[in-house]
Amino acid sequence: MFTKSPNPTGKTFPTYDPRTGDVIAHVAEGDAEDINRAVSAARKAFDEGPWPKMTAYERSRVLFRFADLIDQHTEELATLETWDNGKPYEQAAKIELPMISRLIRYYAGWADKIHGLTVPADSPHLVQTIHEPIGVAGQIIPWNFPLLMFAWKVGPALACGNTVVIKTAEQTPLSALHAAKLLHEAGLPPGVLNVVSGFGPTAGAALATHMQVDKLAFTGSTETGKIVLELAAKSNLKPVTLELGGKSPFIVCKDADVDKTVELAHFALFFNQGQCCCAGSRTYVHESVYDEFLEKAKARALKRSVGDPFVAGIEQGPQIDSEQFEKIMRYIRSGVESGATLETGGERIGDKGFYIQPTVFSNVKEDMLIAKDEIFGPVQSILKFKELEGDGNNTFPNCRDINEVIRRANTTSYGLAAGVFTQDIDTANTLTRALKVGTVWINCYDVFDAAIPFGGYKMSGQGREKGIHCLSNYLQVKAVVTPLKDPAW
Ligand code: NAD
Repeated sequence: MFTKSPNPTGKTFPTYDPRTGDVIAHVAEGDAEDINRAVSAARKAFDEGPWPKMTAYERSRVLFRFADLIDQHTEELATLETWDNGKPYEQAAKIELPMISRLIRYYAGWADKIHGLTVPADSPHLVQTIHEPIGVAGQIIPWNFPLLMFAWKVGPALACGNTVVIKTAEQTPLSALHAAKLLHEAGLPPGVLNVVSGFGPTAGAALATHMQVDKLAFTGSTETGKIVLELAAKSNLKPVTLELGGKSPFIVCKDADVDKTVELAHFALFFNQGQCCCAGSRTYVHESVYDEFLEKAKARALKRSVGDPFVAGIEQGPQIDSEQFEKIMRYIRSGVESGATLETGGERIGDKGFYIQPTVFSNVKEDMLIAKDEIFGPVQSILKFKELEGDGNNTFPNCRDINEVIRRANTTSYGLAAGVFTQDIDTANTLTRALKVGTVWINCYDVFDAAIPFGGYKMSGQGREKGIHCLSNYLQVKAVVTPLKDPAW
């Protein structure tokens, strides 16, 4: 189905099934020349229309139709996602696909509600603002949620009237190609959306450097984020938004409901094979509940069902590829060597594909690599925190207890998300305000909603996606000033 499509070089690259390492298909490999062609098509579609010149209502209807088509094609989209990425089919079909169509509807709803203001000026002038699409949006996405990341990027960009060139991750090119077909079926005019499959240093870098690209939105690792930011600055200074890596703390206070929190901590880390930017990958547990938590966390990891992601009831499939697999195994070895206690897991499962046992480390310290680096795998690191001696004068006595964990949780160059688990409102409020992160989940985790903004502090990124905040990434604000003939009126 996806073998060759016309590209100037005729080059292709294989995409693999993570269950076996076998080739699924050969996909057209876009390089700098393909990016050029895609950008020219997007430029023409933007400059000549009809997309940015259509009424906002017409644009919203295309996106609403696209959302309906996603719902109608859930089965094949989820199949492609599982096949190419290795995530459990039930997760793709029942969690991700509904989130995707909901997000597209959310932005379809925004399309005809974007408008400027009339601004009171000190002088006799009529001052208005017009919100205009920014132009050609270049977008680069990762492999961990291929279709969800596609939707987060194209939904708001198209709703605002932009045209798009999106480069998918080389590990997972398939689902976006199918989604693009559905968008065209929904009525998107030619040239408005251009999907290029290809590699980062060739196609990705060409997009980031292109002089005709007006805006760049990137999701991926912090390392690559720094590269694309530099490429954008050195070319035409296009504005860049970055959604990058994380090392999110999951903080279990002494009054947390242990059973519930064990389950949520397990979910926060192991969901999607541990390949989540916001994975709760540093589980801080108060000393008073630490032993109980640890026993239960270990038991839960041992119960996790790992296997073929197409089989019903499977919670964990294979990692994406051999490179990630090897990287995770190196981190597991490093955890053992640096003195953390391997409570369970740590081994490969089977001899085919990229399956790893759900792994739990205890006695983890901040200076260990497993507590510092983004592992991006099924490896839970549990750290103990204790109460500090307070002076007894604090208005909120519990705050004394959490000063230590605040300091430790913030000891990272990342700042994407955090989980806070407590029954005490003062503790929750203090932690929420003290943590340097873009999202705080209190007594819950990974609650994603189209309307909730998402993004990072520090080296986890710049800007926000989802929600109303994402619209400004794709809009220019033009001020229009007209003298008033008779200022008295
Ligand atoms: P990656 O940085 O290796 O690749 C991401 C994308 O960048 C891919 O499409 C890749 O081809 C491209 N790329 C690579 N080198 C490039 C270059 N020199 N120029 C231009 N493009 C280049 O990341 P990955 O391994 O695909 O994804 C995992 C990372 O993504 C993790 O760090 C994860 O935390 C992060 N992530 C963040 C979010 C978020 O919303 N913050 C969401 C998902 C993933």
